[in-house]
Formats: sequence, C-alpha cells, structure tokens
Amino acid sequence: PDTPVTVIGLGLMGQALAGAFLKAGHPTTVWNRTAAKADQLVADGARLAPTVGEAIKAGSLAIICVTDYEAVRELLGASDVELHGTTLINLTSGDSAQAREAARWAEQRGARYLDGAIMAVPPAVGTAEAVILHSGPQSDFEAHKSTLEALGTVTYLGADHGLASLYDVAGLAMMWSVLNAWLQGTAMLRTAGVDAATYAPFARQIAAGVAEWLPGYAEQIDRGSFPAEVSALETDARAMSHLIEESEAVGVNAELPRLFKAMADRAIAAGHGGEQYPVLIEEFAKPSGDA
Ligand code: NDP
Repeated sequence: PDTPVTVIGLGLMGQALAGAFLKAGHPTTVWNRTAAKADQLVADGARLAPTVGEAIKAGSLAIICVTDYEAVRELLGASDVELHGTTLINLTSGDSAQAREAARWAEQRGARYLDGAIMAVPPAVGTAEAVILHSGPQSDFEAHKSTLEALGTVTYLGADHGLASLYDVAGLAMMWSVLNAWLQGTAMLRTAGVDAATYAPFARQIAAGVAEWLPGYAEQIDRGSFPAEVSALETDARAMSHLIEESEAVGVNAELPRLFKAMADRAIAAGHGGEQYPVLIEEFAKPSGDA
C-alpha cells in the first residue's frame, strides 16, 4: 500500500481509479486538464501535480485513462514528459492496433508499457466486481499486480499488447448479443400481453443454460471438427425460419432472426448442414460481404 502511483485523467473513470488507490492507502499523484476535477481527490489526500511531466516523475507507476488514444499521445508527447524508467498502464479504451502502436511509441521513449481495458462502471472500481484486463510483458504486470489489485479483479491476458482491447470488444459482442436476443423475445411476448418482467426470469435461465454449452463447443472449434452430437445445423435453420415467421406474424422486427438465418444458410450451402452449430465459426471468421 505504500507504492506511489500516478493517475492521469480524472474523468468519471480516472476519479474512480485515483479514489480506489487512495482508499487502499497508496500515495497518489493526480493530474487532469481541468484541474478542478481533482478537488475531491485532493481533499481525500491526493497530490495534484502542476503538469503531466511532474505527475509522471512522482512515482514509477503511472496510469492514464482519458477519452481516446489521441489524447494519450497528446499528453504524453509533451516536451517536458520523461517516460524513461516509468511503467505506464494505459486504461483508455481503444482498438488493438492502437494499443500495439502506443506500446511501440512508449517503449521507444524508454517506458515499460501495459495496455488495459476496464470492464466495469466507475462506481464498481475498487471492488472485486470490477474486472480490469491487462496485456503486455508479463514481468511488468507481475511487478505491479499487488498495487493494481486496489482497482478490482486484475487479470493478465498475454504478451500481445492488443489482447486487452480484443477481449474488451469480444465482451461487448457477447453483451449486446444476449441483450438483443432478449429484446427480440420480449417484443414478441408483449404482443400476447406478457410483460418484460414476466419473461425476464425465463430468458435468464435460457441464457445461463446456453452459456453452459460454450466450453464443449469451443473444443469443437479448436479441433476443427463439428459432429452433430445434439443437433444438426439444418435443424437449427428450420427453427430459425419459425422464429422469422412468428416475428413477422405478430408484427415485430425480424431483422435479427433473418441475420441468424442468412449466416446459417451460407454455411449449409457450403455443405455444413449436417454438422453442429459452432461450424458457423467459419462464417464469422470471414470478412463481411465476402460470403
Ligand atoms: P470522461 O468523459 O468522464 O473523461 C474524459 C477524460 O479525458 C477527462 O479527464 C478529460 O479531461 C480527458 N481528456 C480528453 N481529451 C483530452 C485531451 N485532449 N487532453 C487532455 N485531457 C483530455 O470519460 P471517462 O472517464 O468515463 O472515460 C475515460 C476512459 O475510460 C474512456 O476511454 C472510456 O471508454 C473508458 N471507460 C469508461 C467507462 C465508464 O463507465 N465511464 C467504462 C469502461 C471504460 P477534462 O476533464 O479536462 O475534460
């Protein structure tokens, strides 16, 4: 808890990060373009540095969390900023290419660099519920792991700096897919007078049940072999037609079911109708419009 840390960027997230370090007892130096956002943290014991350069100098570990990578580059590229000897952890959201590029840029300036992604909202930061993903050199992660644990459940993904961003967006794909599927069913059921709260517990049970299939299906994908152990893709595709027809019949949006069906039809046309659902990975693995 006595490891000094620096937090650059005090938006909603940066304030939560700095607050969690302070709460865990770390001497915490902060900087923000709009200095007034540091007021509460300073009242709680943080030190406000006059410049980014001074903030970085205050300790060997610096966290930056601003709007985007352009702002990161603008701030850290200032002439008075010396990155040599600093471990920089960039928790700003971005894509994997930006993360790899930022790593090269920071390492050329003598910093150790980890990229990260925060899978949580600011109020959860500082609790185990906040999952924070890191990628980059493992030794740098291990060196600071116990300090980072003040922020939540910290996870190391691998040496490729792009991994945290990739896991971040993979998680978003999962989140929106589950939510959209739930909204589709809710829209259909409401036409029969079933309200959202009545359907939600059923939907939750189905989502949890389907989640149980993932490890076994992942084995099929990793083996590249998709025997139809429980159901063939063409059986699923017939149920998809049923979902489309029902959506149309009750007068709700059918775009999402049609998208499912279009992907399954392409896989069937490619000869995979007798295989199990995860064979669709071959459709997902192609660029769109390249059917
Ligand atoms: P805010 O909009 O609350 O804060 C943005 C921060 O970036 C402020 O400190 C702002 O400074 C600073 N900033 C932006 N542009 C510049 C610039 N050119 N120069 C200097 N400072 C700049 O955003 P959040 O704190 O919510 O988000 C920060 C990052 O965390 C984002 O990448 C976001 O995607 C990520 N994140 C946020 C989550 C959330 O729930 N809020 C969840 C997970 C990730 P100033 O105060 O002066 O405007």
